[in-house]
Parts: sequence; C-alpha cells; structure tokens
Amino acid sequence: MKNAFTIDFEDWYQGITIPISKWNQYEKRIHVGHEKLLKLLQKNKTKATYFLLGKVIEEHPDIIKEIIAEGHEIGCHTYQHKELYNMTPETFKEEITRCKELINEQFNIDYTGFRAPYFSLDERSWWALDILKEAGFEYDSSIYPGDNKRTGIKGFRKDIHFLENGLPEVPLSNFKLLKFDVGLGGAYFRILPYLYFKQKFKAAAKNAPVIFYIHPWELDPEHPFLPELSKRIRYPHYFNLKRTESKIDRLLQQFEFAPLSEIVANTQLG
Ligand SMILES: [Zn+2]
Repeated sequence: MKNAFTIDFEDWYQGITIPISKWNQYEKRIHVGHEKLLKLLQKNKTKATYFLLGKVIEEHPDIIKEIIAEGHEIGCHTYQHKELYNMTPETFKEEITRCKELINEQFNIDYTGFRAPYFSLDERSWWALDILKEAGFEYDSSIYPGDNKRTGIKGFRKDIHFLENGLPEVPLSNFKLLKFDVGLGGAYFRILPYLYFKQKFKAAAKNAPVIFYIHPWELDPEHPFLPELSKRIRYPHYFNLKRTESKIDRLLQQFEFAPLSEIVANTQLG
C-alpha cells in the first residue's frame, strides 16, 4: 500500500493567521526547508504532492520550477491562506481562478487537487466543494475527519471516497489518542516520539493509504521566533523543529509514498 507525502507549501509566517498585508515585514525563508525537503525526497526516490500557495508561486517562481522539474505533483492551497469559512464563495472563486492562472500561465500546467488552509473545509464552508468541482479539480484533500479545535468534521468518513457531487475526497489521516483526534503529520509528527508515530502510521497504513502532511518551515529551526503569538499557536509551531529533518528521512525510508492523484486513481472509490 502506497501512502501520500503531502507538503503544504508556504513560508513560516503564512500559516499562523498573520494577514497577507503584513507578510512583507517578515524574513522570507521558504528556500531553507524547501532545499532540505527536495534532497530528502531525491535521496529516498519519493514523489510528493505539493499544495502551493499562490503568493509563493508569485514570489518564488524558480523554486516552483524546481519542484515541477523533479516530477512532483502540484496542487492548489489558495492564494492568501485564509480559512475557507471566513471567505465568501465569491472570494473563494476568485482565489482559485487567480491560482489557476498563476500556475497555468507560468508553467503551462493545471492543478489536479486542492487543500484548504488549516483544513478549513468543514460544515461552514461545504459550498467550496461545488466550486472546486466546477473549476475542474480532480480531487479535494481538505477535510479533517474529527475535531482539531479550529476545524474538522466529527464522524466524517475516513476513507477516500466520492462526495455527493462526484468529487473524490481524500480526508487527512488521524487516530484517536484519549479524547483527541491526532493527525498523522505536521505538529503531531514533531511532538510525538518517532517510534510511537511510526507504530500508528503502520497500523493506519494496513487498511488504507496514509495521508501525511508537513510544511517546509518545519525543517527550518532557525526561523524567527514571534513571542507575541498566542500560546496555542506558538507552542505547536516551534516545538521540536530540530528533529523534523531526520524524522522525515526515517519515515521516507520506512514507508512507500506516491503522488495523491496516483493514489486516488488506484483506489476503488465508493
Ligand atoms: Zn497551509
């Protein structure tokens, strides 16, 4: 069974609810984590799925070129990284169109998949799924099947399946730990001891492909510290960044991964 190694491709200040109007105040460092990730993927002969932020495509076309040249799959992660449930359907449509134009005009390719910032596709932003379908996306991978405080849908199906509108949905993988729905990726990957995480990953991978996720800044322990962030955001953001690189190397050695579109194509969808 092949799993998916997905990367939400954004800089360290873009996923901590700082509005886009302030992004220019911060040091751009996406290249640091990017180079480490690219090397790890090369070394382990793995093709990943990168969900690209529109703003990043605009600012770093050379990096995007490199990702595409390596044969990785690219998907869309909106333009400005706002929660879907804080957008209107009209704004969301504009974001998707802008991202499609950016990738199409510069690189002559199209997106297949979509991932919402903060997995913010839930009951409040359910309308987004029809917009994605109409825009020609081939799958969505935004729904967190459980409670992750900010978002999530409790009791949502955990397997890859067709939504009512015909769009395939690839929910994020998670497992129960006490009363928490713990994701197989991101901050949880850094916080949990590797061997424990591996055991949970292995158990989940027995039944279905595991959808793992990570961000480039999680491999950049030197990125600036913002003490003004709330504790709830600050603690998981900065925890154990030094170990991410070696942990990812182990994960890539121990499990097999394929691009998400390939996994969707090879899954019998119900
Ligand atoms: Zn993101």
